Amino acid sequence: MTIPIQNEKRRIVQIEPWIDKSELRELERVIDSTFVVEHELTREFEQRTVELTGGKHAIAVCNGTLALFVGLKALGIGPDDEVIVPNFTFIASSNAVILAGATPVLCEVREDSFCLDVTWAERLVTRKTKAVMPVHLYGQSADMSEVMAFAGRHGLRVVEDAAEAIGVSFEGKHVGTFGDVGVLSYYGNKTITCGEGGILLTNDDALAKAAYRLKNYGRDHKGTFVHESIGFNFSFTDLQAAIGIAQMKKMRTIVSKKREIHDRYVAELRDLSDFRPVYIDPRCQPVFWFTSFLCEDPATLAAFLQGQHIETRRLFYPLHLQPCYAHCKAIRGVDCTFPVSEEIYRRGISLPSSCLLTPDEQSYVIEQIRRFYADRR
Ligand SMILES: *Cc1c(COP(=O)(O)O)cnc(C)c1O
Repeated sequence: MTIPIQNEKRRIVQIEPWIDKSELRELERVIDSTFVVEHELTREFEQRTVELTGGKHAIAVCNGTLALFVGLKALGIGPDDEVIVPNFTFIASSNAVILAGATPVLCEVREDSFCLDVTWAERLVTRKTKAVMPVHLYGQSADMSEVMAFAGRHGLRVVEDAAEAIGVSFEGKHVGTFGDVGVLSYYGNKTITCGEGGILLTNDDALAKAAYRLKNYGRDHKGTFVHESIGFNFSFTDLQAAIGIAQMKKMRTIVSKKREIHDRYVAELRDLSDFRPVYIDPRCQPVFWFTSFLCEDPATLAAFLQGQHIETRRLFYPLHLQPCYAHCKAIRGVDCTFPVSEEIYRRGISLPSSCLLTPDEQSYVIEQIRRFYADRR
């Protein structure tokens, strides 16, 4: 499959999805079937996800945040329970815990991988701790051998937030399939997209059944008005599934293009002493969702690049600094200091990383970054 070359001069975006006629062709199947709601194409999308990940069950949920919520609720996690969450992540991780009525407990991340620091997590365990939520950030894996050993020592459940990590493996096993549940997201900026969408992965039949009930108004099947439990409506649609199936067919191309983009940035910016690529754990088979670097002054660099029509992104803002969590009783740890999270935020920048970035555009981005540093000498 070949990626279309963009000829017109345009602003270089940090990330954009690759959407074309192939999504339209899959959508035509939905229109022809007249089933726009969750139906056979959603089952096909789930089955393809089972095949991709090796997880036993894949349950489509309307978005990743609610898939995390469903996973937590299916595990019986709620009021009075604590869930250890990395302090450096997208805020949906901790907010899903709050939505479930439980308390997120913030944990520092590792300086190298930006993922959960298990040594730090050891100090956070209390009688109330029920689960740990490793987040596989920016397309690499948390250290799942350490996380699983930690969870085992304390009898904790493991909810993997693999929203950014479709295609990522740790020691050959797809992330999201280590813990009790794992979640993938298909938001528009993720490696592949359905517009909105999430998949809950689990190897446990009972959890799969509980999760399905929760998203299907508390019943095991559609078409009945007898409800075994209290559930809600977090359904998928076959419109999303159609787009997701088309995207899955492109995934190998997207992933290899993102690797090329990452490798080229690293190779051609390596000699800049201030520009450090993100460490990749050798046990991890990453997907370079975003290519990010650490540097001394990302804000000034970002402003300079913006002036050259190049869009970049800062990294995630640490949770303990979020305005919405100031004096918030629904979360624990906001008063602590998290030097690593703060340092990663202070120094991090994500470069244009879309699979549609052309070699010429990438040359231009690299040239402008080099110019920025040359001017500052
Ligand atoms: C995108 C993302 C989510 C949320 O997924 P949505 O599908 O957007 O709800 C959760 N956690 C992380 C780490 C994410 O990047």
